[in-house]
Amino acid sequence: MSASSPSAPAARWQLEHSYAQLPDLFHTRTLPSPVRHPQLVAFNAPLAAALGLPSDLAAPPANAALFTGNQLPPGAQPLAQAYAGHQFGHFAVLGDGRAILLGEQIAPTGQRFDIQLKGAGLTPFSRGGDGRAALGPMLREYLISEAMHALAIPTTRSLAVASTGETVARRHPLPGAVLTRVASSHLRVGTFQWAAAQGDPAALQALADYAIQRHYPEVAAAENPYHAFLLAVISRQAALIAQWMLAGFVHGVMNTDNMAISGETIDYGPCAFLDAYDPATVFSSIDHQGRYAYAQQPLAAQWNLARFAETLLPLLHPQENQALELAQAAIQAFPALAQSHRLAGFRKKLGLFNEATEDAALAEDLLSWMHLRQADYTHTFRTLHLLAPLPDPTFALWHQRWAARLTRQPQSPAASQQRRDAANPAFIPRNHLVEAALAAAADQGDFAPFHRLAAVLAQPFAPPETHPTYSAPPTPPSCPYQTFCGT
Ligand code: AMP
Ligand code: MG
Repeated sequence: MSASSPSAPAARWQLEHSYAQLPDLFHTRTLPSPVRHPQLVAFNAPLAAALGLPSDLAAPPANAALFTGNQLPPGAQPLAQAYAGHQFGHFAVLGDGRAILLGEQIAPTGQRFDIQLKGAGLTPFSRGGDGRAALGPMLREYLISEAMHALAIPTTRSLAVASTGETVARRHPLPGAVLTRVASSHLRVGTFQWAAAQGDPAALQALADYAIQRHYPEVAAAENPYHAFLLAVISRQAALIAQWMLAGFVHGVMNTDNMAISGETIDYGPCAFLDAYDPATVFSSIDHQGRYAYAQQPLAAQWNLARFAETLLPLLHPQENQALELAQAAIQAFPALAQSHRLAGFRKKLGLFNEATEDAALAEDLLSWMHLRQADYTHTFRTLHLLAPLPDPTFALWHQRWAARLTRQPQSPAASQQRRDAANPAFIPRNHLVEAALAAAADQGDFAPFHRLAAVLAQPFAPPETHPTYSAPPTPPSCPYQTFCGT
């Protein structure tokens, strides 16, 4: 019998370049700039296997050369993507200033994935930047994006981090690194803003057709495909933002260039998860107005989607006022959409199978109590069933309502508990753990805490007692935590 079955294709690079077929104004051919001393420090073997990449990919010495751009995989045609975006409300022309797309890997499933090197050197879009990235922030993106994936939240993925042996100049000199990012595409709201700003209707339409074909092929047959496209993007974003809210995730920099058309979470900069519940939580040191605070995220997303809808106006309807009406109606539907996903998610987090009108109040009242008591968001949900004896009259009343509500469904208490355990993670990338892991790696060259944390975060719904130090909230409960954009 032959060792390899004919149905299992050999693992190999299989890069295609559909994005490069778009008009020239969307991309510039750019090669990665080689680095001095590449070393592979993190490698995502399960992701490599899912992508159908060669199994010897992680073997030295070729590995590190490949994951810094010193050596290109077969079939690569590196380019930098052009895009614009509203940054904290201000329009700017941006583009990949430090990221280079190698191509699109066709996975054994037939799915297409962008393979991008982040921190790969100068591009025509680098403006004043150095084209590079620091090790800590790239490890951070690796940890948090993979944690999001394990939480079943749509996200770009991280295939590898390689250190460069070079220093990057930030506030202090820092070790440099390159992240290999995997995305179902890097099309952003900002890509459409770039197209619209060119005043080239054919280019805009080419981009919209491309995005439809790549992410929403089902809308191509609609009577008005561009309207259906707009509705589909809005619908995916509503689901995504609700999942962020349910997980206690704060993206931190929801500029329009950081909103993916695919509906994946993208661009992990100053993001972090809530510890103590406070809807006004802001982690990013540069978000002075709280524009992207935890509870502002649905509003910020809706604002971004309005900018997206504006770019599509010429495609929505030949008459401008009709196009505007379609766009406005679509955007106005967003809050209710996001809210219904959020409520459905809270029902799961509370172990509810059926729907009752009181459920929204039940969830909101628990959140209010958490806010009042500075209770840990993740821990409270995961251990709700253990909190009945809490000497707190407000909570005791809430707990009685919840217990009564649970009796108004046919499912057993055990089934309800199972539902809660599958919806409430025990393990999230807690800020104190992430910081400790990154500091050990970047300051001492000790990657063991990073790898241990990544392994725990891959099983977020495992019983909390399997890794008590990773599931426990920080002490003191609400240490003010700040994240920095200087990545
Ligand atoms: P971000 O805040 O990561 O979404 O990036 C916003 C814009 O700044 C994008 O156009 C990036 O490519 C660019 N950028 C960020 N860091 C650098 C850097 N070190 N060098 C060049 N461009 C950068
Ligand atoms: Mg960005």
